[in-house]
Amino acid sequence: MEKNKVKERIDELVRQLNYYNYMYYVENNPVVTDYEYDKLYHELVELEKKYPEYRRPDSPTLHIGGQPLKEFTTVSHRIPMLSMDNTYSEEELIEFDKRIKRGAEIADIEYVVELKYDGVAVSLIYQDGVFVRGASRGDGWTGDDITENLKTLRTLPMVIPYKEPIEVRGEVYMRKDSFEKINEERKRTGEVLFANPRNATAGSLKLLDPETVAKRNLQLFVYQGILKKFTTHWETLEFLKTLGFPVNPYRKLAKDIKEVIAYCNEWKEKRIHLPYNIDGMVIKVNSLSLQERLGTTSKSPRWAVAYKFPAEQAETTLKDVIVQVGRTGTLTPVAVLEPVQLSGTTVSRATLHNFDEVKRLGIKIGDRVFVEKSGEIIPKIVKAIQEKRNGTEKDIPVPERCPVCHSRVVKDEEEVAIRCPNVRCPAQVKERIIHFTSRDAMDIEGLGEKWVNILVDKGIISDYGDIYEEITYEKLIGLERMGEKSVKNLLSAIEKSKTRSFANLIFALGIRHIGVHTSEVLAENFSSIDELARADIETLSDIKEIGPVVAQSIVDFFNNQENLDVIKKLKRAGVKTEREEVFGRSNKLAGLTFVITGILNGYTRDGITNLIKRHGGKVTETVSGKTDYLLCGKEPGSKLDRAKALGVKIIGEEEFKKLIGE
Ligand code: NAD
Repeated sequence: MEKNKVKERIDELVRQLNYYNYMYYVENNPVVTDYEYDKLYHELVELEKKYPEYRRPDSPTLHIGGQPLKEFTTVSHRIPMLSMDNTYSEEELIEFDKRIKRGAEIADIEYVVELKYDGVAVSLIYQDGVFVRGASRGDGWTGDDITENLKTLRTLPMVIPYKEPIEVRGEVYMRKDSFEKINEERKRTGEVLFANPRNATAGSLKLLDPETVAKRNLQLFVYQGILKKFTTHWETLEFLKTLGFPVNPYRKLAKDIKEVIAYCNEWKEKRIHLPYNIDGMVIKVNSLSLQERLGTTSKSPRWAVAYKFPAEQAETTLKDVIVQVGRTGTLTPVAVLEPVQLSGTTVSRATLHNFDEVKRLGIKIGDRVFVEKSGEIIPKIVKAIQEKRNGTEKDIPVPERCPVCHSRVVKDEEEVAIRCPNVRCPAQVKERIIHFTSRDAMDIEGLGEKWVNILVDKGIISDYGDIYEEITYEKLIGLERMGEKSVKNLLSAIEKSKTRSFANLIFALGIRHIGVHTSEVLAENFSSIDELARADIETLSDIKEIGPVVAQSIVDFFNNQENLDVIKKLKRAGVKTEREEVFGRSNKLAGLTFVITGILNGYTRDGITNLIKRHGGKVTETVSGKTDYLLCGKEPGSKLDRAKALGVKIIGEEEFKKLIGE
C-alpha cells in the first residue's frame, strides 16, 4: 500500500472504530457485529505495527473502550481493569501458548479455562468482611461507583467470612429469559430494543435508580480475586466459592494447550443450552507468580487470552421489506425472511435499523442473504450473496410517503432516520397512546396494542388525553369481546394511573429523545408541567444531563398547540402534572462539589452522599480544582493534604449541617 494511502486508511479505521466504541460502550447499541469490529481492529493493529509514525493519539488500540459517566462518582482502580486479546482459531491459541512458553522458559504451562460471560466487568471491594464498594471498568483506570446498583444483585454477598481487605472481580450479566422479557416490554412501549443481553446489562447498570435496576434481575459470576494468599488462580477461585461468591461451575484446569483446545471445542456446541450468553472462552495461566512475571501491555494482560466463538450464521432469502411507523413518526424498515433455523430458534424477521443501513448493505428483495446472531437475540442481515443473484432481484425503494397516512416523508438533517411528519397519522397516534399506557409511563394495564387499535379505529379515542375523557362504561361494554369484568378492570386501571408520579407523566407524553432517565431529571428540575412548558432552550441546556437536541425537542413539543390541548385534558382528568414534594429535598447545595474523607460521626458514607445529592450537590472521589468543599471526619486520609495544597475549603460535620439548614 502506498504511504499516503496507509495514513488515510489508519485515519479511517480510527474514526470508524471510535464511533463503534461509542455506540457499543456509551449508547449500548452496537452497529456492527463483534466479529466485524475485531477484524477492523486487527487491521489497525497490524498497520500501526508496520507504520508506527502514523499512530494517532486517539487510536482505540491505546485506550480501553468505555469511559466513566458524569452521573456517577468516579473511582480509581488500584490495579487497572484491562481488556483482553482476542483469538478466533486454534492456531492463534497455539501461538499464544508458544508466546507464554518463550516468556516463561517453561516446557509445560498449566491453564485455567473459563467461560467468557457476555456481560459487564465489575470490581467489588470488601473490608472487614463487608461489601463496601462496587465499580464499573470505565476506561480501565477509573470507573463509576455503582455500589447501590450492585447491591440489588441477589447473588452478590453483602458479608463474607473473611476479614482481610480484598477485591473481587467478575462479570454482571443478564439471563436470556430476563432479556427477552425486558425487550418484549420495551417493544410494547415503543422504546429502542436492546441488541443483546450484554447491552441490556450495561444499560441497566447505568441507571440512576437502584429500584429499577433491581427489576432487571441481573446476575453475577466472579472470576478473579486479588488477595495474596494462594499461588494459583485455580485455588483462588475455589476459595472465593467457599466465601459464598458465585463462581461458575464450568471451568477446567488444563495441563497443556491441547486440553485447552479440546475444552473450548466442547463448549462451542454446548453453549446453546446455557441460560445465559457466552461469547467465547477465557484461557488464563494458572500460576500467579508466572502471571506476574508475564505482566501486562497497556491494554491487556499477557497471561490471558479470549477465544471467541464465531457468530452463528444462516443463509436464507429476503422476501420483502416492510416499513413500520413509530410513535415519533420514524420509518423503520424490517426484513421479512424465508423462515430459517438459527441458534435453535426460527428466524423470519430481521431489523434493518434505517434506510442508510439498507443502502450500506446493498441488499435487494429476492436476494439470498446471510443472517447472523452473535450473542444478539435480534438477528441481523450481514450481507447479500451477490454471486447468487439471477437478475430478478428488486431494489428496495426509500419511501417518499408514509405507508399508513401517505404524507410526504421528511429527513432531519442531523439524523439518518426518515419520518412521517403528520402527527395525526393513525400509526403515530396509536403508537403514542400505546407508549402512554406502558409500564414505565402511566402503566394502564389492559390497554395494550390490541385495545388501542380497536379504540382508535372505532373513533372512540384519538389522543391519550381521550383515555380519561372518552372511555366510558357505556362505550366499552358495547365492544366485541369486552365483558363486564374486563370493562371494570380497565376503568379502574385508568383511574389508578392518575396516581402515577410527575416523572412518569413526563415520560408518558412521548416527547422525542426523552427516556425514563431524562424524565426523572426533568421532574427534579421543574415543579410542574407549566413550568416545563415555559422553559426555553437556555434554561433547559443549563441542566447537566440535557443536551441541545433534547432541549430543542422539549421546546418543539410545547410549542405545538395540539400537544397543549391534550395536556389540558390530562389536567382536567387530575393526573399529576406537578411534582410531589419529597420530604428533605432542596437545591441548597446546587452547583457545589464535595469530597468526603475520614470517619463521620452522624452519617455513613452512603448516607452523607445521598444527603448531598438530595440537596442538589455532587460528590466526587478525588480532590481537584473543581472541588468546593472537603468534608472532613476523624482520621482523614491524604485527601486532606491535597485539599490544603489546593486551597479547597475544609469543613466538618457541624458546618455541613449549617449549609443544608439542619
Ligand atoms: P473483551 O470482551 O474482549 O474481554 C475482556 C472482558 O471479558 C473482561 O473485561 C471481562 O469483563 C470479560 N470476561 C468474561 N468472562 C471472563 C472470565 N471468565 N475471566 C475474565 N474476564 C472475563 O474485552 P472488552 O474490552 O470488554 O471488549 C472488547 C471487545 O468488545 C472487542 O473485541 C469487540 O469484540 C467488542 N466490541 C464490539 C463493538 C461493536 O461495535 N460490535 C465495539 C466495541 C467493542
